[in-house]
Amino acid sequence: MTKYAAPGQSGSVVTYRDRYDHFIGGEYVPPAKGEYFANPTPVTGEEFTEIARGTAEDVDRALDAAHGAARGWGKTSVADRANVLNKIADRIEANLEMLAVAETWENGKPIRETLAADLPLAVDHFRYFAGVIRAQEGGISQIDEDLVAYHFQEPLGVVAQIIPWNFPLLMAVWKLAPALAAGNAVVLKPAEQTPASIHVLMELIADLLPPGVVNVVNGFGVEAGKPLASSRRVAKVAFTGETTTGRLIMQYASENIIPVTLELGGKSPNVFFSDVAAERDAFYDKALEGFTMFALNQGEVCTCPSRALIQSSIYSDFLGDAVSRTQAVRQGHPLDTETMIGAQASNDQLEKILSYIDIGKQEGARVLTGGERADLGGELSGGYYVQPTVFEGDNKMRIFQEEIFGPVVAVTSFSDYDDALKTANDTLYGLGAGVWSRDGSVAYRAGRDIQAGRVWVNNYHAYPAHAAFGGYKQSGIGRENHRVMLDHYQQTKNLLVSY
Ligand code: NAD
Repeated sequence: MTKYAAPGQSGSVVTYRDRYDHFIGGEYVPPAKGEYFANPTPVTGEEFTEIARGTAEDVDRALDAAHGAARGWGKTSVADRANVLNKIADRIEANLEMLAVAETWENGKPIRETLAADLPLAVDHFRYFAGVIRAQEGGISQIDEDLVAYHFQEPLGVVAQIIPWNFPLLMAVWKLAPALAAGNAVVLKPAEQTPASIHVLMELIADLLPPGVVNVVNGFGVEAGKPLASSRRVAKVAFTGETTTGRLIMQYASENIIPVTLELGGKSPNVFFSDVAAERDAFYDKALEGFTMFALNQGEVCTCPSRALIQSSIYSDFLGDAVSRTQAVRQGHPLDTETMIGAQASNDQLEKILSYIDIGKQEGARVLTGGERADLGGELSGGYYVQPTVFEGDNKMRIFQEEIFGPVVAVTSFSDYDDALKTANDTLYGLGAGVWSRDGSVAYRAGRDIQAGRVWVNNYHAYPAHAAFGGYKQSGIGRENHRVMLDHYQQTKNLLVSY
């Protein structure tokens, strides 16, 4: 077991500044109105830095810087841009431990996740898009003997990116890598709950980018996010967050007739067919592990399998084993490498989850384990911890229909394939899903029939850069990851030439 020293303690690999201004035009710029807000760590609830409170004036300054840089960056060769992306990847990799601790302290997620998943995925993402942009080719079509069409991919120009707090660094990288590869300049607004680790990253990579190509404006949704998303000076808005906010982003963008990509909420079903329990073997064990994925990242994952559907013939036995497995998930200090579940990202989120647990109880759902705030004692007693909670109930209940975004799973049974699919698809959302069966044809059919952009079959929660990710229904518009992402950051120029 290793326990990393907290930022501020001797031996820590991270030093946070006492205050973070906006990162504009390659330097730190204080907020136009001179206001700051406190940023606490979810680990202990103590404030560790303060953050510039952005307003429309700050957004304008960032847009000035981005417009000043966009043309030059868009004209660089793809080889040069790919080299920059690869250097960023190398820099992150060389400082992976430092960034992992910074991210854990900022967000509350366990260090084993930031070390093994968030940061390695960020590295891979930059490398992937460095490769993809090199491999992109234009097109030529001969229309007839005398007429030829040339197709060019051009950057959009300056793009707005607004991100949530659940994977602060990874969500930033998912958006930055393709936008930069495609030759755009960016103004990024982090979530107000988790801006600081993004600034640690910016300080680390600033010298690799021309000033103004990436700008970060801190602040709250309506004060800083809205002026950015509604600006006439952005060519696109890329947003990840709640479905209700996504609706507003579409409205703002519609005023300027610009495209949006929206990565929104989910209520993902995890479907366990009866043959899962045919033997108590490694497959069965993996399925139980898959059930506990609802608590991964404290349930603050848009694809969190927050509804488990278990076939009635194995319901009691499988659920009993799944509850035992959930009870074995180790909750503790997020900087301890043995910890599997850490703190919720903010006090507001903690309260939202606890209120949903109350709603579940009032609706008549049965708590099989958890159901309370977790008091881990000592220095962690002020942190934001919730016990992993398993509810048994009915798919019509609010805890089955509304996104809780915490370590809470709602479980119900199904009789046969049609019943499973009906329940799985009985949701406004369509982001992720899991299917577990030893029968390849059942697993394949269910994977195709579930209305979700990503279905994990006999596994859950891998996010390779080269697999397209995004939502059906009210879970969003567009895709992230995969080379299709370039289409969202480029426009096609066509020259129709007579000879
Ligand atoms: P949120 O919608 O409250 O906030 C997201 C971002 O939008 C923040 O930066 C916030 O400041 C900003 N914002 C809020 N109101 C705004 C407004 N009126 N105008 C412009 N910007 C505004 O979401 P959250 O609570 O930070 O994140 C959790 C949500 O994100 C969950 O619903 C989760 O499912 C979703 N999410 C989706 C994905 C995905 O890929 N689909 C990934 C991660 C998180």
